[in-house]
Amino acid sequence: MSRHILDTSPSVSDEVRKTTCYMCACRCGINVHLKDGKIRYIEGNKDHPVNQGVLCAKGSAGIMQHYAPSRLSQPLKRVGERGEGKFEPISWDEALEMATSWLQPIYKKDPKKLAFFTGRDQSQGLTGWWAQQFGTQNFAAHGGFCSVNMAAAGIYTMGGAFWEFGSPDWERTKLFMIFGVAEDHDSNPIKMGLSRLKERNVKTIAVNPVRTGYNAIADEWVGIRPGTDGLFVMSLIHQLIAAGRVDIDYLIRYTNAPYLVIRNEGGADDGLFARDKDGQPLIWDRKKAKAVSASTKQISPAMQGEFDLGKGVKAVPVFQLLAEKYADDSFSPDNVAQKTGISADQIRAIADQLAHTAFEEEIVIKRKWTDMKGETHDKIIGRPVAMHAMRGISAHSNGFQTCRAIHLLQILLGSVECPGGFRFKPTYPKPSSAHPAPGKPAGAGKPLSGPPLGYLHEPEQLLVDDKGTPLRIDKAYSWEAPFSAHGLMHMVISNAFAGDPYPVDVLFMYMANMSWNSSMNSRGVMDMLTAKTEDGDYVIPKIIYSDAYSSEMVAFADLILPDTTYLERHDCISLLDRPICEADAVADSIRWPVMEPDRDVKGFQSVLLAIGAKLGLPGMVDETGKPLYADYADYIINHQRKPGIGPLAGFRGADGTKSGRGEPNPNQIQAYIDNGGFWIEEIPEEAKFYKHANEAYQDWAVEMGFYDSPQPVTFQLWLEPLAKFQLAAKGHGNMQPPDHLRQRIIDCFDPLPSWYAPFEGDLLADEAAYPYHAITQRPAAMYHSWGSQNAWLRQIHTSNPLYVPGPICDELGLVDDDWVWVSSHHGKIKVQMKRTDAVNAQTMWTWNAIGKRKGAWALSADAPEATKGFLLNHLIHELLPGSDDGLRWSNSDPITGQAAWYDLRVNIEKAEAGDGQSQPDFSQQDNQGSVSDAELRYGQEWSK
Ligand code: SF4
Repeated sequence: MSRHILDTSPSVSDEVRKTTCYMCACRCGINVHLKDGKIRYIEGNKDHPVNQGVLCAKGSAGIMQHYAPSRLSQPLKRVGERGEGKFEPISWDEALEMATSWLQPIYKKDPKKLAFFTGRDQSQGLTGWWAQQFGTQNFAAHGGFCSVNMAAAGIYTMGGAFWEFGSPDWERTKLFMIFGVAEDHDSNPIKMGLSRLKERNVKTIAVNPVRTGYNAIADEWVGIRPGTDGLFVMSLIHQLIAAGRVDIDYLIRYTNAPYLVIRNEGGADDGLFARDKDGQPLIWDRKKAKAVSASTKQISPAMQGEFDLGKGVKAVPVFQLLAEKYADDSFSPDNVAQKTGISADQIRAIADQLAHTAFEEEIVIKRKWTDMKGETHDKIIGRPVAMHAMRGISAHSNGFQTCRAIHLLQILLGSVECPGGFRFKPTYPKPSSAHPAPGKPAGAGKPLSGPPLGYLHEPEQLLVDDKGTPLRIDKAYSWEAPFSAHGLMHMVISNAFAGDPYPVDVLFMYMANMSWNSSMNSRGVMDMLTAKTEDGDYVIPKIIYSDAYSSEMVAFADLILPDTTYLERHDCISLLDRPICEADAVADSIRWPVMEPDRDVKGFQSVLLAIGAKLGLPGMVDETGKPLYADYADYIINHQRKPGIGPLAGFRGADGTKSGRGEPNPNQIQAYIDNGGFWIEEIPEEAKFYKHANEAYQDWAVEMGFYDSPQPVTFQLWLEPLAKFQLAAKGHGNMQPPDHLRQRIIDCFDPLPSWYAPFEGDLLADEAAYPYHAITQRPAAMYHSWGSQNAWLRQIHTSNPLYVPGPICDELGLVDDDWVWVSSHHGKIKVQMKRTDAVNAQTMWTWNAIGKRKGAWALSADAPEATKGFLLNHLIHELLPGSDDGLRWSNSDPITGQAAWYDLRVNIEKAEAGDGQSQPDFSQQDNQGSVSDAELRYGQEWSK
C-alpha cells in the first residue's frame, strides 16, 4: 500500500505563489498556497484581469489534479501489443533518442509523413511554429473538433469572434443573448458577467436545447431544436428588415453593405465585387450618380437599386441582396416555427426587444475620436444589445453559416464594438486578410512557406496538388473543407489508417484523448490504432504521445513522453496564440513551476524544443548545431518571431520597461512572477471603441506590435471568398473542384449567411428511424476528461445519466433510473436515464466526457464512471451516412471542416437493467505508468 500524507493543519500557508489556472481553458489567475513544501489550497487572484479573484470548483480542485494518482511518472516504451498498456520505463535520453530516430528520416525525406496534432494545447504559438520548422503541413490543435466555426466565421466576418476575441460589454449592455453555451471556454468571466447583469436587472435570453447552467438562470429560455439556430436568427433578421429596424448609418460606415456586387448570372464574375482599376470595391454615389471607390470621402452610398457600370456590367449593393434574401417568406416566424421548435410569437417578441433596446435605449458617450478616413467625431453611439455564442452553435455541419448569421444580426443592430454591445479584445479585430494563408510544403529539410494554419481567400490558396488531391492528412484546406482554419483533428487517425490521401510514418500527439472521448467512433479508432498490415506491422507505424495523466490514449502509444502538471512547468499565454486580453486592455500571462516535479517528467514544450534541437530544425539550433534554447522558459524569454516581438509582450527591453515591442529581457519571467503572473496595459481612452475603424486604436496597435501597419476592418456581410468558391464550382477559373463536390459547394458556400439542414439527418436513408437529437453539455464542475478523474470533482458527478424529455418518457413508460438502448445509424449504447422537462422535446442529452474506460486514469475498475458512465461518441461516426453518389463524407461542416458532433440523430427504446453495466463495455486497461493506484484524499492518508 502506498502512503502519502497531505498537510491538514489549520495554520496559514508558508508561501503564496501566483500563476495561471489550467483546470479549464479560461486561464484565471490563481494564488497557490504552500505549506511545508506541499500545496495547501488554491484561491483566485483578486488582481487578475480574467477572474478578479473568482475561483470555480474546478480551479480550487486543482490541488487534487496536481496530486492525482493517475499522473505519469517516467518515460515509457511499449513492450506489449498496442492497446494492452504494457510498458517499460526508459530514461529521458533514451526517449529523446527514440523520438529523434523516428523523426529524423522523415524530416530528411518527406516531412508530411509526420502528423503532429495537439489537444487542449495552450502553446500553439510554439507547437505550430515547430511544425512549420519541421516542414510538415500536418499540424493542428483541437479547434477543428471544438469551435472552429465560431472562430472562423467571426474572423472572416468582422475580424474577431467571441471569447478570446471579444466580450459583451457587461457594464453597459441592456439586453444579453447567449447561444449554444452550457459552461464552456469563457467560464468565470461569463459567470461574473451574468452576475453583473442580475445586479442591474438586465434581461438575458438564452438559446439552447437544454436548460442547464447559464440557460437555467436566464430570464427567457429558447428551447431550440439542435441545428436550427441559423434559421431562428435569420427569422429575427427577417423581422428587423421588414420593420426597417437596422442601423443604416453604421452599415454604411463600417460594413460592405454598400459595396456593389456584380449580377451576371452564369458569368465568371457573378457575385464578385465590382472594383476600380486599383482593385478597390466600388460603391454607387447617389449624389454623383456614378460608382466611386469605397475609400472615397464624403459619399452618399446607394443601398438599393441596380446600377449600370458600363460595358453591360450590372451591379447591386450588398444591402439590396441581403434585404431580398431575408425578406423572403421562408424566413418568416410562422414558417420557421415548426422546424426550430420556437413559437412564431416568441420569435416576433425577441425581434421587437432587440430593436427596442438597440434603438430606443441607445447610449451616447461624448468623446472625440477619429476614423480611418481622418474624419473626427464628437460622440460614440452605443446599441446596448450584447451577444455570446459558442460550441452548441458551432458543432454542426451548418455551423459556419449559423455563426455568420449571429454576427450579421449583431452588425445590423449596430452593436459591434460600441458601448453596451459586443467589444473586441486586443489583438482583435484583425481582418482575415491580415492573417497568413496556410503555409505550403517547401520540400524535405525546409520549413513550410508559412504557419501551417491560416486563412485563405481564393481557390488558388488551397493545399491541393495539381490533380486536386489534398496535401494534408486531415484534408484541411482542400475542396472538402477549404476554410478549415483549425484543421480536422477528428479525421487524422481514420485518414492515416486508410492511407487517404497518403499513409503517415509517425503520429505525434499531445493532450488529445483520441482513443476515447476526443474521437467520433471511439471503438473504430481503437481498431485503427491497433490494426496491422499483412506483414504484421502496424498500419500507423509509430505513435508518440505526451500527456500528464494515464488517459485511455496512453495504452495505444509506442513511446510516452510524460508531461508535468500545470503547476510544475513554464507556459506563456501569449498574444501570438490565444491571449487573455480585456476590451479595454491588452494582457498576457505565464505559468511557472510553483512546485518542482517529484517524478521523472518534463514539460512537453521543453521536450519538443529538445527534439527540435536534436533534429537540427531551423530556429532551434545555432549555426554550429548547438541548441538555441535550454528549455521552454529560455524560449519564452529569448525567442523573437520578428525583431522585438516575442512570446510575451510585457516587461520587454533589456531593463523590462518596454511593452509590446522590445528586445528580450533576461529577467522577463521574474518580472511576471513579481507582478502576480500576468502583465496588463490599458488601451488609450480615445482608442477604446470602434477599434476596427478608429485611427488612435490602429496606431496604438501598430506601436504595440500587433501588426506592422494599420489593419482596419470592414465587416464582411457579403463574404466574397465564398462567392469565389461558388464560381469555381460552377466551372470558372483554373482551380476546379472534383465533380462530386460541385453541388455541395454551390449549395453551402452562400456569400450571405444561409441555412441548410444538418447533414446527418438529411442523409439518413430513413430519417424517421432516428427521430430525436442527442447532444452533450459540459458540466460547470468539469473540463473534458481531466475533471472526471479528480477526487473532488468526482464527488459532484460520478456518472452521467441520459436526460430524456418528459413526453418521450411517457410514451415509452420510462421512469428515472430505467435503462434504455439508444441507437444511431452507426451504433447502439445501453445507458441509464433520467426524466427532464427542461429540454427541447425532441432532444436528449448527457454530460460530456464523464464515462471512462475501466482501468484508465488510475480509477478502480468498478468506478461509476466506468460502470454507469458512458459516451455518446460510440453513436457518432466520423463519416456521414452514404449519399446518393455512393460516397461517404466526413461528418463535418463543408466550409471549415468543423466536427459536426451535434448533428447526431438517434432513437431510443426501453432496455432490461441486466447487470447494471452501461454498454459498450470494453476490457480493462492496465494502469499505465501512474504514480499510484491508491485513493487520494485531502487531509487524510492515501489508502487503498
Ligand atoms: S474558470 Fe477555468 S481557469 Fe478559471 S478557475 Fe475555473 S477552472 Fe480555473
